[in-house]
Amino acid sequence: MERFPIDVTMVPVGPVRGTIRPPGSKSITNRAFLVAALADGESRLEGWLDADDTQAMRTALSALGAELAPEGSTMVVRGRSGRLSAPEEAVDVRSSGTTARFITAAAALADGPVRVDGSAQLRRRPIEPLVVALRSAGVGVDYLVATGALPICVHPAPLPGGHLAIDASVSSQFASGLMLVSPFAERDTEIDFVDGVAVSRTYLETTAEVMRAFGASVSVDESVSVGSGRQYVGRHYEIEADASAATYPLVAGAITGGVVTVIGIPAASTQADLGVLDVLSAMGCTVDRRPTSITLSAPSDGKLQPVDVDLSLAPDGALSIAVACLFASGPSTLRGLSTLRFKETDRLTALATELGKLGADTTVTDDTIVVVPGAPSGARITTYDDHRMAMAFSLAGLVIPEVVIDDPGCVAKTWPGYWSALEELRPGSVIAGPTATIVAIDGPGGVGKTTVSRTLAEKLGLGHLDTGAFYRGATAAVLRSGVSISDPVAVVDVVHRAALTFRDGAMLLDEVDISDEIRSSSVTSAVSAVAAIPEVRDRMVQLQRRWVAHQPKGAVVEGRDIGTVVFPDADLKIFLTARPDVRARRRAGEVADADVGSIQRDLERRDRADSSREVSPLRAADDAVVIDTSDLPMEGVVEVALSHVAHLG
Ligand code: C5P
Repeated sequence: MERFPIDVTMVPVGPVRGTIRPPGSKSITNRAFLVAALADGESRLEGWLDADDTQAMRTALSALGAELAPEGSTMVVRGRSGRLSAPEEAVDVRSSGTTARFITAAAALADGPVRVDGSAQLRRRPIEPLVVALRSAGVGVDYLVATGALPICVHPAPLPGGHLAIDASVSSQFASGLMLVSPFAERDTEIDFVDGVAVSRTYLETTAEVMRAFGASVSVDESVSVGSGRQYVGRHYEIEADASAATYPLVAGAITGGVVTVIGIPAASTQADLGVLDVLSAMGCTVDRRPTSITLSAPSDGKLQPVDVDLSLAPDGALSIAVACLFASGPSTLRGLSTLRFKETDRLTALATELGKLGADTTVTDDTIVVVPGAPSGARITTYDDHRMAMAFSLAGLVIPEVVIDDPGCVAKTWPGYWSALEELRPGSVIAGPTATIVAIDGPGGVGKTTVSRTLAEKLGLGHLDTGAFYRGATAAVLRSGVSISDPVAVVDVVHRAALTFRDGAMLLDEVDISDEIRSSSVTSAVSAVAAIPEVRDRMVQLQRRWVAHQPKGAVVEGRDIGTVVFPDADLKIFLTARPDVRARRRAGEVADADVGSIQRDLERRDRADSSREVSPLRAADDAVVIDTSDLPMEGVVEVALSHVAHLG
């Protein structure tokens, strides 16, 4: 886990541009963990979210006897065929609302009484509607401290099925909890909503979808029907990127006049917070939804329109939208937000208070907030131990100077890497200190970039980054995954998930050294095609800038687009060239039994691909020093480079 400072001072930026894969969906991860733990056989859950709330679910399920073992981005779950074992100790759901509600329902399937408890924050959140419904199904539930709140003790009993009624007017999670255990009832279950009301109904569809994926029969309509006898079967399951998390980069694009692409959310996704896309369109943004990506472009005139919208179906996204309303050209009204009062904090009141600090006039009634933008001013934002308050208000700081976010670490509840992700979306987001030196060395293959860069880095005491290794590492991950390199959507998804690190001159994938693999002929022939995909390049540039930002004195960075794209403000830019036959002979010298002719043909093919691609083609920056290395020994090239370094200020 990352370590966080006590606060973060935001620095306004120009238009935010970039591609981002938000972490796995929290809602889907926690549903899939539970369903897989109850299934017959083993499940492999790809792209799961690793954050506080899913840790809570994971440890709670382990306490109930399920086995969940992470293997990189896959969680391997050994299912318990609907039978959980009651632990001695109370099951701790920490501060996770979904875990509290789902585990309370699942405890009905245990082989003895189960006590469920959580953090002080969670003890203040409601549980009564679920307890009432479970009791009506014959499951005993005792309150151990205060009526209506955790801790509780659940006394399991066989679920009879039949008609059940649940009060879903405060949270849909109660109904989701009941749904998730209903395949194990003796008869089909029909869940009705008291007074016909179910808030955040879209979440029920997400619950149903995960259940169906594992073989259950369930339909969501005026009421919910769950078939008995069709129990869960373990499987390989892909977890989508989180739509609530996606709202932050999208709103960042909207309010800064930028363009942001979010990947990993399929067009058919039922995630509730995708509802914010319509709101952002109504505010004047262009939203382009593709099979697995969403691209938002801010209005061309930079002006966001005010809106009057009901966000009851996208309650988490309401926070980012409320912040976007600060930058609209008039008052906005956001309705349907009564459930916000029962989240990590009373979010409606918290929104009004904090938006007020930033210069807005706000009025809150029962379930509505009206935001009247005023003269924006910076302020210290209280975040109430609420991840979404921290993430939403950080966006205001991309536009308004001197916005300080208190307790930035609370984002770990659902997105531990949020601050780095935001940093990487900022234009020119080189975080390296002001005294760091960056030398960019570009040129085609075989010109001697690596020898020159490495020597130069050693002599100057700087880090050395071979960016080609990143493109090769990404290509190795793609080849390993088995997806076709001619399927850009799948390639981009794999690349965004791959844990690539460059350490001590070696390329690591999931912490395993793949330095040999990336030099294989299969990687070499596929790399230019992978490197031509714009979203792959966005990701590589992010990783490269992050790497350089961690070099105390700076770095010598070699590649194809370093001086033009990755570090356009580099202190020194060198572009190396050499005749193709010379380059081929040099490459041949690096490989045993090499065939110079075929190496030359391959280099020329890659040169053509790298120089003619649409995004960041190989070319010398206008201010680069061009050195032809055909007839110059490498020491000579290093000397020329050093003489230019000597002229730096
Ligand atoms: O330098 P190397 O031959 O290892 O690079 C492999 C490939 O990675 C290049 O042919 C190019 O397609 C891609 N690449 C790139 N931009 C960089 C570095 C490498 O497109 N900065």
